[in-house]
Amino acid sequence: MAVRIAVAGGKGGTGKTTLAVGLARAFLSTGEKVSLLDLDVEEPNSHLFLSDLREVNRRQVISSLPAVITEHCVACGRCKEFCHFNAIVVFDKATVLEEFCHRCGGCVLVCPERAIVEKEVVIGEVIKAVGRGLELVSGWLEVGQANPGPVIREVKAEQVAGDWVVLDCPPGSGCAFVESVEGADLLLGVVEDTPFGAHDFRKVVQVARNAGMRIFAVINRYGMGNGDGVKVCEEEEIEILAKVPFSEAAHRALAQGGDPYSVSPDLKGILDWIRDALLERLER
Ligand code: SF4
Ligand code: SF4
Repeated sequence: MAVRIAVAGGKGGTGKTTLAVGLARAFLSTGEKVSLLDLDVEEPNSHLFLSDLREVNRRQVISSLPAVITEHCVACGRCKEFCHFNAIVVFDKATVLEEFCHRCGGCVLVCPERAIVEKEVVIGEVIKAVGRGLELVSGWLEVGQANPGPVIREVKAEQVAGDWVVLDCPPGSGCAFVESVEGADLLLGVVEDTPFGAHDFRKVVQVARNAGMRIFAVINRYGMGNGDGVKVCEEEEIEILAKVPFSEAAHRALAQGGDPYSVSPDLKGILDWIRDALLERLER
């Protein structure tokens, strides 16, 4: 059965995508099948490091949104009262604020005039690409859509062949993150060694612990912070598998779309080390 590794950083910009792509390549180098799911659907960027992959499938993600039939609306306000997300305003007629709507469908049910119906809209895309034995599935949320959950679910529902499934999770510890780590076997935290990095990682740890996941950490750009990232791992009793020092040369190569597993021998060595440590911890 496939092992699903959620790679998450808490705050944005910790280098989690670099690590997720690099780790996928490191597992691939042992001859295992690997699938990488880019669940950061508001800003997917794993593909930027994998320009040699070839797109093999693309499909739309459709969701339903409430729409008001204004001729039927009597402005009673029941839908507004019901909506827990403040996604409806009522003046002379009701109006749905789509960017706040969570598609629960409740307003459709509570309207006494049947003045709200569901309409189908395209809210995103799921794109699958393959190459050199690696499979990448990326989710893309349409601009203007506020709820990434359905797109994340569609990416995770895609049939994948990997023995190892690496999940590149969205930043933060909110709904999108919770959705993305659900069903993962372990969480690999990519932690920035700063007060913000530590603060956000602690929230990620809470979610992962509640979900019963094993947690490991990697301190990224080690030596550039104040030590808070290391401290939070110690306080939370989370094993640090590696401390990755900042490398100007590797950073420049990555910024130009270089493959994290190839841009520097040092980084490759660290990624192999993390892979082997995970294999050992999981006894595979
Ligand atoms: S519940 Fe129906 S009738 Fe009442 S304000 Fe909402 S849409 Fe209009
Ligand atoms: S579907 Fe749910 S979240 Fe969206 S407007 Fe209606 S009640 Fe609010």
